[in-house]
Amino acid sequence: MTNARGVPTPLTPPGGIHRFGRRILDDPAHDPYRASGKWAAGTQCSGCGAQFMHGHWAWQKNPAPAASSKHLCPACQRVHDHQPAGYLTLDGPTLSTHRDEILALARHEAARASADHPLQRVMDIIEHEDRVEITTTDIHVPPRIGQALHRAHHGELAISYGHDEISVRVHWTG
Ligand SMILES: [Zn+2]
Repeated sequence: MTNARGVPTPLTPPGGIHRFGRRILDDPAHDPYRASGKWAAGTQCSGCGAQFMHGHWAWQKNPAPAASSKHLCPACQRVHDHQPAGYLTLDGPTLSTHRDEILALARHEAARASADHPLQRVMDIIEHEDRVEITTTDIHVPPRIGQALHRAHHGELAISYGHDEISVRVHWTG
C-alpha cells in the first residue's frame, strides 16, 4: 500500500507536535556566535544598536556613551555571514489557500520576538510556489512561529534541534 503524501508517519500523529532531541536549554556555551563573556558591558552593536548589558544583548533605552565599544551582535554577525541558526518551512494546502494570513501571523510573531529579544530575528522569508522558507538568527523564533501557526491553523508541526541546540529546523504542514 502506498502513501501518496508520504506523511503522516507514526512519529507525527495528525495534529500532533513531535519534538526531537532534548528540550531547549538556553546555554550559549557551545554557540560560536554567543560565546559568553565575549563582550564588555556596554558594548553597542554597530549593526542594530543593541547593547550588551548584564550578560545579554538588549535594546537600549538610552543612548550609549560615545566611548562605548562597538561590535556586531550575534544576530547581526549571522546576517553578515549568511549563517542562519533557525530554519522554518511552511507548506500544505492551508498555506495555498491562506498564504497572506499565514505570512502575516508569522511576521507578527517574529516582530513580537525581536521587540523583546534583539537576537531573535527573521533573516529571510523566501516564497516558493508550494512552500515558504524562513531563516532566523536564533533557535527560538522558528518554534514560536510554528506553534502559533499550529494553534491557529492546526496541521502538523515537527521541531528538530541540531547538535548542542545551536540550530533548529521546524516544519509546519498546514
Ligand atoms: Zn546587532
